[in-house]
Amino acid sequence: MMKNAIYAIKSLFLIELWKGLAVTGKHLFQRKITVQYPEEKTPMSFRFRGLHALRRYPNGEERCIACKLCEAVCPALAIKIDSEAREDGSRRTTRYDIDLTKCIYCGFCEEACPVDAIVETREFEYFGESQADLYYTKDMLLAIGDRMEESIASDRKQDAAYR
Ligand code: SF4
Ligand code: SF4
Repeated sequence: MMKNAIYAIKSLFLIELWKGLAVTGKHLFQRKITVQYPEEKTPMSFRFRGLHALRRYPNGEERCIACKLCEAVCPALAIKIDSEAREDGSRRTTRYDIDLTKCIYCGFCEEACPVDAIVETREFEYFGESQADLYYTKDMLLAIGDRMEESIASDRKQDAAYR
């Protein structure tokens, strides 16, 4: 009964509406933060999860050991890996594909990787006009890793310092 009365009073005096307008009013005279993108950009976290990359060691060797943990943990089933043993007995991928139209950028793949091979970079300015454009193969992912290694290494260092 009491509850209904309070509800009726609130409805009558448009209390919720005035509360909403108060929030609008509070922000009306605050400093604006419009950013003139793409000339200006907002600060970005070193944990930003953007375009994926596969990394190499400084000697050029691929980090990935084809353990397939990333493939197993991916909730979107976006990663496809095939692998085989090399002559030296080590195992490497023969196929490492990510379908970015399925990816939800959760970061589980990079969290699961024991050798920091698959990572998500700060790169977010990419697009595709068809699904095929967003299907990234091993060569494409390695090329991104090669191009962005400096920034990836710096971000991983900062990340480690915060853990
Ligand atoms: S970020 Fe998440 S959804 Fe995307 S490939 Fe990695 S594990 Fe899968
Ligand atoms: S990227 Fe990492 S988790 Fe995925 S298969 Fe290679 S080593 Fe394993």
